[in-house]
Amino acid sequence: MAETITLTIKKQKNIALIAHDGKKAELIKWCKDNADILSKHFLCGTGTTARMITDATGLPVRGYNSGPLGGDQQIGAKIVEGKVDFVIFFSDPLTAAPHDPDVKALMRIAQVYDIPFANNKATADFLLHSSYMDEEYDHDVINFKQNIEHRAETLK
Ligand code: PGA
Repeated sequence: MAETITLTIKKQKNIALIAHDGKKAELIKWCKDNADILSKHFLCGTGTTARMITDATGLPVRGYNSGPLGGDQQIGAKIVEGKVDFVIFFSDPLTAAPHDPDVKALMRIAQVYDIPFANNKATADFLLHSSYMDEEYDHDVINFKQNIEHRAETLK
């Protein structure tokens, strides 16, 4: 069993918002309906989704690249750096996307770092209305520094 370290998701969350094309209208409506709560947190998202949410709600959403051009991977990297700690991703289960591997990678890295991750509206509703949204939340993630030391020693 790998050693873990305790990290804290702060009261003010760093939320990434992503929607596939077939789900953009649904996510934008969800952001409008929940604008009061979302406005208390830091928001970012893939390029098109971020722009459309800002246009529709006035909420500031920092935009990364468009998803098919690496935006999901940028958000994954921010999870690794500890700069994104909450993901709302309305993915489309009925349409094949060229960047499907990137989506899988994002889900995997969110799992590794024990990040709250909603992939549909009901989960997003339950997450956003959790009492943890107004509190700090401690969680345990793999201690990668120690993991590297251990690997460097044992894989010689
Ligand atoms: P987009 O990317 O917000 O730039 O459309 C989302 C995605 O398809 O991953």
